[in-house]
Amino acid sequence: MMDTLTVVSHPLVRHTLTVLRDRTTSTAVFRKALRDCAALLGYEATRDLPLEMRAIETPLMPMRSPVLAAKRIVIAPILRAGLGMVDGLLELMPDATVAHLGLYRDPASLRAVDYYFKASAELADCLVMVLDPMLATGNTAVAALDRLKEGGARDLRFLCVLAAPAGIDQLRRHHPDVRLWTAAIDDELNDHGYILPGLGDAGDRMCGT
Ligand code: URA
Repeated sequence: MMDTLTVVSHPLVRHTLTVLRDRTTSTAVFRKALRDCAALLGYEATRDLPLEMRAIETPLMPMRSPVLAAKRIVIAPILRAGLGMVDGLLELMPDATVAHLGLYRDPASLRAVDYYFKASAELADCLVMVLDPMLATGNTAVAALDRLKEGGARDLRFLCVLAAPAGIDQLRRHHPDVRLWTAAIDDELNDHGYILPGLGDAGDRMCGT
């Protein structure tokens, strides 16, 4: 079976994650750390992107050299907190398009409620990278992936900063074809569906709300 989970344990990622976890981190520093962490995760999650050879000329002679193959990349943040990861991915892939997935967790049932979806029409031909800093129960992630597949997406990857074991199980059960990259796997969820030890509410910390 394909191993669908990658924990990115690079020292820069681990350092950045500590900044994100620390309750004394300011909103401005949190935003930057989230963007940086997303870029580092994105670097790992694009390790196997296909290349094609292109004829170019160096200042000294012609040669053939690899460039990214034409497949379009879509970055799909789950609102709100996923927005904090977009710029990190766009730094790596400035030509990517951005789809928006409006989903929130109902605080009572912890179920995902879908309120907005905007993506390009040709998702079937794209690599879609779904962003949400927190994979907690997995309900929102599963709903987002369901929605993207309904829209035609077939090649999907999921990037998060922190994952809980329950969320990983849920994602694997419903979308075994979707690979997951995370900076760490935490211990458990509390009764409100927050990841422990976690970093708190990623959206609130990023937005300063
Ligand atoms: N969403 C968050 O922002 N934090 C959690 O711990 C879980 C879900």
